[in-house]
Amino acid sequence: MGLTTKIVLAMLLGIVVGVLFNFFETSQVLGAGITGFINNYLTEGLFDIIGRIFIASLKLMVVPLVLVSLICGACALSEGSRVGVLAGKTLALYLLTTAAAISLALMLALVFQPGVGMEGVQAAVAFEPKPSPSLSQVLVDIFPSNPVDAMAKGNMLQIIVFALLMGYAIARCGEPGRRMASFFNDLNEVIMRMVGVLMVFAPYGVFALLATKISQLGTEAIFQLGKYFLVVLLALALHGLGVYSLLLKLFSGLSPLELLKKMRPAMVFAFSTSSSAATIPVTLSTVEKRLGVDNKVAAFTVPLGATVNMDGTAIMQGVATAFIAQMYGIDIGLSGYLTVILTATLASIGTAGVPGVGLIMLAMVLQQVGLPLEGIAIVMGVDRLLDMVRTVVNITGDSVVTTIVAKSEGYFSKEVYYDGNYDSVAS
Ligand code: ASP
Repeated sequence: MGLTTKIVLAMLLGIVVGVLFNFFETSQVLGAGITGFINNYLTEGLFDIIGRIFIASLKLMVVPLVLVSLICGACALSEGSRVGVLAGKTLALYLLTTAAAISLALMLALVFQPGVGMEGVQAAVAFEPKPSPSLSQVLVDIFPSNPVDAMAKGNMLQIIVFALLMGYAIARCGEPGRRMASFFNDLNEVIMRMVGVLMVFAPYGVFALLATKISQLGTEAIFQLGKYFLVVLLALALHGLGVYSLLLKLFSGLSPLELLKKMRPAMVFAFSTSSSAATIPVTLSTVEKRLGVDNKVAAFTVPLGATVNMDGTAIMQGVATAFIAQMYGIDIGLSGYLTVILTATLASIGTAGVPGVGLIMLAMVLQQVGLPLEGIAIVMGVDRLLDMVRTVVNITGDSVVTTIVAKSEGYFSKEVYYDGNYDSVAS
C-alpha cells in the first residue's frame, strides 16, 4: 500500500473513531467507566501525545526547509532577470484569489441569509479580542532586525526577506558564492530527505490528531448554527473546486483534477493540523515532486502563500460578517461590504497560518465595519471543524497559484504533472 493511500485511510479511520468516541461521550451508552477510560487514556492520553509529537515534527522542518530552499531558489533565480515579474505575478494572484473568495462568500451569505432568525442565540463561550496591529506596523514587521529571532519565532515573512537577500548575495559573490550555493543545495537535499523520513510516521499522526479533535467537537453548536455552517462549507467547496479549477484552466490550461488528486496528502495534513504553516513541508515537497514546479518558484511562493494567502479563511470572514450583521439586524450597506473585502484581504497579510487565527482576523474586520465583537463568540462554537476545512482550501489556493506562476515563467515540468504517480507523498 502506498503512503498516500495509508494517509487517506488513516484520516478516514481517525474521523470514524472520533465520531464514535464523541457519540460515546454524549450518549454515555458505555457507562462512565469505559467513557472515562477513553477520555483519560486515549483522547487525552495516547492519541493526544502522538498527535502533538506529529505536529511538533512537522513544525520542526518548517524553518530549516523554508530558509534553505529559498536561499537556493533565490540564488538560482537571481541569475535570471524576471524575479520581480515572478514576485509581482504571485502577489497579484494571491490578492485576486483572496478578494474573489471573500466576494463569493459575501454573495452566498446575502442570498442564504444565515443570520436571519438567529437573534436569540447566546454565545456559549467568551471571546477576548486582542488589539490588532496597525497597517504600518504590519508593513514594518515584514523586515527582520534579527534573523535568529525571526527563525526562533518562525516569523515566515521575515525569514523570506532574509533568505531572498542571502540568496541574491550568494549569486553575486563569485567563487565563495559558488561554494555556498553548492553547500546550500546539498543541505536542501538533506532537509528534503528528513521530511521524507518523517512522512513515514504521518498515518499514525493523522489518525491520532483526527480521533482526538473530532471526539472533542461540540456537535450541538453545529445544529444550532447549521445554516451558517453550511453556507461556509458551500462557499469553501465552490471556491476550492470551482474557482480554482477555472483559474488553473484559464491561466495555464492544465487539468485541475490532476492537481486535486496529487495534492491529496498535503490536503489531509492541512485538514488534520488546521495549520497551513505546519503543512509547508508537505505542500512544498508535493508541488515540487508531484506537480513538477521548480524549487526556485515553489520555495518562494509556498511559504509566502501560507502566510499571506488564506482564501478559506477569507471565506469564513465574509460569511461570518454577513451572519453577524444579519443576526444583530445591522445593515452595513454596500460600502460596509466593500470595506469587509478590503480589510479581510489585508488582514491575511502578516498573520501566520496557524489554527484559529481566522477568528483574530475576523475581529479586525468586525471592528472596521463597527459590528459587535460578541458575534465572534457565537461563531466560535463551530469554528474548529470549519478551521480544518478552510485550511485545506488555503493550501490548495497556494498550490494553484504556485503552479500557474511556475508554468507561465517556464519553471514547470508537464511530464511530472501528468505522470500518473498518485501514491507517493513526495517523490
Ligand atoms: N488555520 C488556518 C490556516 O492555518 C487559518 C485560520 O483560518 O484560522 O491556514
